[in-house]
Amino acid sequence: MRVLLIFVFCVFVVNAKAQFSWPDGAKAAVVFTYDDGLDCHLDIAVPQLDEYDLKGTFFCTGNSPSLYNRTEEWHTISKHGHELGNHTLFHPCDGTGQDWVKAEYDLRTYTPEQIVAELKTANTLLKAVDGNTERTYGYTCSHFVANGVDFTDSVKNMFVAARCDGPIPKTMKVYKTWKTPSFMSADPEIEDLIAKVEEAKTNGTIVVFMFHSVGGGYLNTPADVHEQLLQYVSENRDELYSDSFINVMKYVKENQ
Ligand SMILES: [Zn+2]
Repeated sequence: MRVLLIFVFCVFVVNAKAQFSWPDGAKAAVVFTYDDGLDCHLDIAVPQLDEYDLKGTFFCTGNSPSLYNRTEEWHTISKHGHELGNHTLFHPCDGTGQDWVKAEYDLRTYTPEQIVAELKTANTLLKAVDGNTERTYGYTCSHFVANGVDFTDSVKNMFVAARCDGPIPKTMKVYKTWKTPSFMSADPEIEDLIAKVEEAKTNGTIVVFMFHSVGGGYLNTPADVHEQLLQYVSENRDELYSDSFINVMKYVKENQ
């Protein structure tokens, strides 16, 4: 009986892995996302992505100085296949253990109605920049609770998909497009980043990178490391499917 159960379990695991197929026989998907609407995204990340013909998703906060000062450039990158994702207006987070969160932008005291209104207004703002009526969301600090209430359902209704944090998925079977895991790193070695791609390849699943500063700044990824990762993904295109977060999530939803 025990042997039979183990056999059934193994068949289940093999099937779970085999059941999701990526475009053109790719073994895994790779998604590049960038948070907080920073100048270094326009100055370093986008030119590097363009050089390797790869697309990124840029989760811009409404109060990003770069979005204000360089609106035309953000508009232009959206026309070149990069996505402007919603990352709220004021970047509210749960301030537990995070001194930098201002009292007025602490999710512990936001009402659920307040965060939903903020997300809608941020959508209006981004629509004014790129003209798009659908986009994805990047949970600020990967938090999804306002004043003790989980607002995930509202996010689910408003966006094509939403990015959270978490490990590389073992299977696509139970993959939640409204709370996708992603990998955040600070000052990573190229080997660490490639290891994540390889883990996704082994699992037949997906790695979503969450970058902040590129080429200097907080939660930084050195410019050369960023470029090496893009080069690696570009050189392995036959095995790796890569596109903006919204396009990859649309594919997942259609094929899940
Ligand atoms: Zn952020």
